[in-house]
Amino acid sequence: MGRVTDTLELPGWSHVYSGKVRDLYVPQGTSEGSRPTRMLVVASDRVSAFDHVLSPGIPGKGTILTTLSLWWFDRLAGGDGGRRIPNHLIPDHVLVGDAALELIPEEVTGRAMVVAALDMQPIECVVRGYLTGSGWAEYRESGTVCGIPLPAGLVDGDRLPEPLYTPAFKAPQGAHDENISYERSVELVGADTAAELRELSLEIYRRAAATAEQRGLILADTKFEFGRNAAGTLVLADEVLTPDSSRYWDAAAWRSGGTPAERMASFDKQIVRDWLAAHWDRQGEPPALPDDIVQRTQARYAELLQRLTGY
Ligand code: ATP
Ligand code: MG
Repeated sequence: MGRVTDTLELPGWSHVYSGKVRDLYVPQGTSEGSRPTRMLVVASDRVSAFDHVLSPGIPGKGTILTTLSLWWFDRLAGGDGGRRIPNHLIPDHVLVGDAALELIPEEVTGRAMVVAALDMQPIECVVRGYLTGSGWAEYRESGTVCGIPLPAGLVDGDRLPEPLYTPAFKAPQGAHDENISYERSVELVGADTAAELRELSLEIYRRAAATAEQRGLILADTKFEFGRNAAGTLVLADEVLTPDSSRYWDAAAWRSGGTPAERMASFDKQIVRDWLAAHWDRQGEPPALPDDIVQRTQARYAELLQRLTGY
């Protein structure tokens, strides 16, 4: 799986886990097996495609994705046309006294977040406003998306009649997440939590899609993760509305009705995926990414950040 092991030593924190893209730390001194109250989530510049971490990374990616997450957390928490959505961020000023050791270390400023360690729900809360990816693959086979029947005659990239909540079971480390029915999510987390996850996800998607639209962007689909805090409240966690967890398209290109690739001119790592699909047979280790692919991907991430936030 090409896991990266060269994680940083960070003062005040102990490394506990690395996903394909992010590294997790807990406060130093947290004894093994005990639950920390806080975690440090560090976004690296690593980029993955087809379940492999590629090299080189995309310079600045960790900072851009963290900046985007923070921007969205802030807007959603502030109300922004709906209720306040609580999130897992712990503001600096809360970390006083001994806990001040758990601030963001200088080495990772700009690409790290201190978050409350939550009891995570085992469900990836996917919302799709448009038909593409695994949804499009299923629709072609059976006319449904995650078992939900859709009108006939839709093509890749079409807008769905209304946004669909299509949960996935969060597979344990390394395994593939598995699309599940809403009924299955009820079995996994109970009827009340399942309903709350669905309502929150659809509301956040609608608000974010409206914000994106004002900036000439389509939020085609996205994935949220939630956890419960010590008080038992469901809280928005993980990264949010980044190009690693979402598909963003250029609205003008989409309306122009060109080829699927033109319509879905994407702001994520599609450039990387396309290059890799054309230059690798998926056997053995993937080849190194050429400079121009790295630069174009980097420019695309920077453009998304600029268009959404103005930064
Ligand atoms: P992949 O490499 O496929 O992304 P991954 O999802 O395990 O694998 P990351 O996304 O980097 O890797 O890891 C972040 C992990 O931290 C996820 O398991 C996520 O559910 C978890 N997480 C995010 N926010 C919190 C939180 N506030 N409290 C506890 N766990 C969290
Ligand atoms: Mg993840």
